Amino acid sequence: MASKRQIWVKDVPIGGGAPVAVQTMTKTETANLGATMEQIGKVAEAGADIVRVAVPRDKDVEALKTIVRDSPIPVIADIHFNHTLALKAIDAGAHCVRLNPGNIGGREKVAEVAERANAVGVPMRIGVNSGSLPKHLHELERSNPVEALVTAAVEFVEMMESLEFENFKVSIKSTNVPNTIAANRMLAEKIPYPLHLGITEAGTKWSGSLKSAVGLGTLLADGVGDTIRISLSTFHAEEEVKVAWEILKALHLRERGPVLIACPTCGRLQFDMDSVVAEIEQRLESYEDPIEVAVLGCAVNGIGEASHADFGITGAKNEGLIFAHGKPLRKVPQEQLVDTLFEEIDKSVDRGKVDVDATKAAEGAEWLAKIEEENAGELTPERIAQMEKEAAEAEGRDPITEPFLKPVKAKQVELDEEASPTAGRRFTRA
Ligand code: SF4
Repeated sequence: MASKRQIWVKDVPIGGGAPVAVQTMTKTETANLGATMEQIGKVAEAGADIVRVAVPRDKDVEALKTIVRDSPIPVIADIHFNHTLALKAIDAGAHCVRLNPGNIGGREKVAEVAERANAVGVPMRIGVNSGSLPKHLHELERSNPVEALVTAAVEFVEMMESLEFENFKVSIKSTNVPNTIAANRMLAEKIPYPLHLGITEAGTKWSGSLKSAVGLGTLLADGVGDTIRISLSTFHAEEEVKVAWEILKALHLRERGPVLIACPTCGRLQFDMDSVVAEIEQRLESYEDPIEVAVLGCAVNGIGEASHADFGITGAKNEGLIFAHGKPLRKVPQEQLVDTLFEEIDKSVDRGKVDVDATKAAEGAEWLAKIEEENAGELTPERIAQMEKEAAEAEGRDPITEPFLKPVKAKQVELDEEASPTAGRRFTRA
């Protein structure tokens, strides 16, 4: 369920059914205007809807004025411990202020910030982090960390409401993935405000992306979460944005740019797919259309598995095939596969349709049919999957929810102890 309330961070709606907004945070010293603006440019190009900058010093607030003016996307000022900086950030034109009411120095100070934000219509992100919960919740945190996080968040929400400030979104952050999932699910039931999702200190690009995909993906699949930030230990904030988009694209929540699908490869692979896939992925980054491109490691199965893709390639020893929407387009020498694929993609982007040369397509189809025929008996992963699907359908099973064969009654077997003295007996070695 999407949050009932919606807020706007400049021109980006958050919550209330708006598309899940992608945000990230710059890793530069905010006061270093050149470096910060360069990074904001990169994250905006990668698809960030909103960017957050740390504002720990007065010189960062000074820089914020220029950043807000020049940034192509809305800017959130990230403030901790110092409510004066929050007030100054609002005056500097920040499009949103992030603060944790628990570490800003008491209700009066939060009230001052809320009043200033209300006066100019600036929203806030209020949040709680595991590890910095109010003292009165420490005991609960030891016995039930999820409930402690949610209780703290609800208390802060009530505090903001009592200050007549309701223009906010809420975040609960934890390094623990199951706790993040459970806490956000529980919080979504209790409050109508938009939720910001993230896994704190998720880790390196590899492990952090996986943890985020599991944690945030689970919540988003349930309809919980209105804006996301992937926290990765990398200076390149645009990497966080790319991961966020992959999660949203995988869940079909948002569309942006091409989708690359590739077979996992196996012993039938007949070309250097690692480098081919990497090159295709990198070249696709410059395309904006949501083209689906498939890469198959061999032509043994034909192209049925990837017939939904807009374009694809499959290779054999010396040659490979370019296909589109399940139909062969042309066969080419293997070293020309990638360049020819992109030639075909470019032609279709320019003309708005796939260009089919009937002679070349027929040659490609013939080549493919020959390979399929030569390998008709091969039990490839795709054919095994197809056989399992057919068997399930024949038995009236759902291949997804009932993947296994129905149990059959075991036959009674007569043991021939002379032929095999240990048959049917368990024994242990001394
Ligand atoms: S059999 Fe399937 S998994 Fe193996 S290389 Fe061919 S397409 Fe890829």
